[in-house]
Amino acid sequence: MMTQLKEKLDTAIRNVPDFPKPGIRFKDITPVFLDANLCDEIADNIIKEFVTRNGGIDAVCSIESRGFFIGMLIANKLQIPLFPVRKAGKLPAKTKSFTYDLEYGSATLEIHTGVVKPDWKIMIHDDILATGGTAMAAAELIKAEGGQVAGFSFIAELDFLKGRDKILSYSPNIVSAIRFS
Ligand code: AMP
Repeated sequence: MMTQLKEKLDTAIRNVPDFPKPGIRFKDITPVFLDANLCDEIADNIIKEFVTRNGGIDAVCSIESRGFFIGMLIANKLQIPLFPVRKAGKLPAKTKSFTYDLEYGSATLEIHTGVVKPDWKIMIHDDILATGGTAMAAAELIKAEGGQVAGFSFIAELDFLKGRDKILSYSPNIVSAIRFS
């Protein structure tokens, strides 16, 4: 039985075939943001699940760019700091970078140096967990900056791409508001 939130997300998240390239079934989460109550429910659900299972966190790391939306909502509800991990060349001050493999080619993510406090327990947030490379890169950057990865949260997880396996070693605390098999 799906919970009410899962049912709502299953309806709101739109499948777009062959985007951005043939063979990819893109999960479009933009309709979710049209519903203010649904956004609230997602953030409350992640906070409840995460805090119940894993205790408190000190900061949220939001991954560019679709991780910014609900990440900020979570951080604001908890009244804790948020910092972004962004694609190469976007952050203006001194950065550290991490390059990881994609299906074709590679990608680089960056973090501002000096923003992470050594005692911070950090939850990494993104919209979707697919192959896990992006979340893994964020975890590597947090570790390189001396922070503790307290876990991960996502609006949606694509189970069949097994991203969970790639990030489990950083933290087993992985919360997704909905999982697609
Ligand atoms: P990955 O590194 O493979 O886990 O990919 C995660 C990032 O790519 C997330 O930031 C998602 O926004 C995006 N992404 C990957 N696959 C999809 C998909 N099928 N639909 C929508 N977004 C996706």
